[in-house]
Amino acid sequence: MFESDTRRSAAPYQPAAPTFEDEEPPSSSRRHPVWRDVPDEQWDDWRWQTHHSIRSVRQLRNLLPFSAEELEILGQLEGDYKVAIPPYYFSLIDPQNPHDPIRLQSVPSPLEAENLSGYELDDPLEEDKDSPVPGLTHRYPDRALLITTPNCSMYCRYCTRKRATLTRGGWESISADDERMIEYVRDHPEIRDVIISGGDPLTLPLNKLRYYLENLKAIEHVDVIRIGTRVPVTLPQRLYDNELIELLASAEKVYIQTHFNHPRELTPEAIRVCKALLRAGMPINNHSVLLKGVNDNLATMRALLRGLLKAKIRPYYLFHCDPVTGAGHFRTSIWKGMEIMEGLRGHMSGIGIPTYVVDSPHGGGKIPLMPNYLVSMSDDAVILRNYEGLLIRYQAEDKPTTIEATTTQGVSGLLQGDKTVLIPHDNERMARRKPRVIRECGTAAAERNHHGSSHNAEVPIRPIIPLPLINCSNNGHPTNNGHAASNG
Ligand code: SF4
Repeated sequence: MFESDTRRSAAPYQPAAPTFEDEEPPSSSRRHPVWRDVPDEQWDDWRWQTHHSIRSVRQLRNLLPFSAEELEILGQLEGDYKVAIPPYYFSLIDPQNPHDPIRLQSVPSPLEAENLSGYELDDPLEEDKDSPVPGLTHRYPDRALLITTPNCSMYCRYCTRKRATLTRGGWESISADDERMIEYVRDHPEIRDVIISGGDPLTLPLNKLRYYLENLKAIEHVDVIRIGTRVPVTLPQRLYDNELIELLASAEKVYIQTHFNHPRELTPEAIRVCKALLRAGMPINNHSVLLKGVNDNLATMRALLRGLLKAKIRPYYLFHCDPVTGAGHFRTSIWKGMEIMEGLRGHMSGIGIPTYVVDSPHGGGKIPLMPNYLVSMSDDAVILRNYEGLLIRYQAEDKPTTIEATTTQGVSGLLQGDKTVLIPHDNERMARRKPRVIRECGTAAAERNHHGSSHNAEVPIRPIIPLPLINCSNNGHPTNNGHAASNG
C-alpha cells in the first residue's frame, strides 16, 4: 500500500506552510509531512524511494489540491502518459503553490491535453529518422546517442523523448537492440563521443549498464562516454550506492550530463552525490531547459547557474523547450531566452554561462543563439557592443585607415574613427573610475569628459579608455588616440 494512504487514515493531511524562496537552494532537507516519520534509513534508500514514488492521479489528489475539472482531465490523461515522482523530489514542492516550479516539472497538468498550435510533434527532433539501428541516433559526424531504457526516476512533463518515456507503450516503437547499437559504434570509427541516455541510464540494472560501459570502453576510437541522467536531481539516493559510482568510474571515459532546471533542486543531497561523482573523476556538465514558469526569469536563472558553479557543475547548455506534444505550455518565446542571456554575459562569471541553443526541426541539430554584440562594420573596423551598452570601435588589423574623413556621428562616427567609444549615461563602471580621473588628470575637463558622455552626446570620449594610460598633458585632454592608449 502506498505510504501516504496508511498515514492519512491516522492523521489527515495538513499542508505545512514552509516558505520557499525561488532564488535560493534549500539549506537543509525537506520532507512532505506524509513522510515525516519515515526512518532515515528507508528515506535514504533508493529502492524505498522508487517503491513509494507517486504514480497515479489517485495518489496525487490526496497530496495536492486539484479542482474537480482538473481531476477529470488528469484521469483521462493517465491512460496516455506515465507519472513517477519519488517522495524525495515531491517533498521539494510547495503544496500551497499551484505554480510551484518543482510541481510544474513533475505533476501532470490538464494543459498536456492541448496542442493549440498543432505544431507540437511526438518526435520533434526527428531522432528516429536518423536511427540506423533501433535505439541509436547518428546525427552529428562524431557522436552517437544510445536510447537504452524507457524508464526514468521522475517523468519530466516536458520531456523531448516523451514518445519513449512518458507515453504508455511508446517504447515499443524504439525498442533498443543493445548488441546492434554497440556493433554500430564499433563499425564507425568516426564516432568518438557516445551519449548513453534514455530514459535515464542510471535506472538500468547494473549488469545492463556494465554491458554498455565495458563494451564502449573497449572501443578504441570512443574517447568520451556521456551519461545523460536526471538521477542526481530527482533521486540522488541512487548514487549513495558506491557500487554504481565505481562502475561509472571504471569506464574511465565517463562524463556525467545532468539536468538541473531550478536552484531549489540543488539540495544538500543532490550536491553530495555530485561531489561523489566529481571525486571519482567524472566531470559534470549540466543541461537546463528554459521552461515557462520554472526558470524563465533572470533572477532564477542566475541563482541556478551560481549554485551549479558553487557545486563545481559546469553549466553547459540552456535548451529552448522543444515543441513536444502536450508540452506547449512550457514553451517561451526565443526573445525570453535572449533576454536571459543578455542578463548573464558580462554580468556573471563566464564559466557559469551556458550556451543557449535551439534544437532545430528536421533534425537540424543544436543551433546556438546569443544577443548580437556586432553592431556594425566597415573595411577598417567593427563596432562592438559590450554588456554595459558601450559601443566600441575595434580595429582588428593594424593597417592605415581607408575611410575618407566625413562629418558624421553615432555609430557611423565610430566607424569613421572620429571617436572610439560611445558610453551610456550613468555607466557604473565609469563612475567608479572618477576618482582616478581626477587624481591622474587633475582637471575639471577630464571629469566633464568622463561624465558628459552618452550615446546621444558628441563628446570626446577617447580620453577615458583605458584610464591608466590617459595622456593628460594637453590641458586634460589626451594627445594620443584611444587605440594607442589601449595598446600601450
Ligand atoms: S529524466 Fe530525461 S528522459 Fe526522463 S523524462 Fe526527464 S527529461 Fe525525459
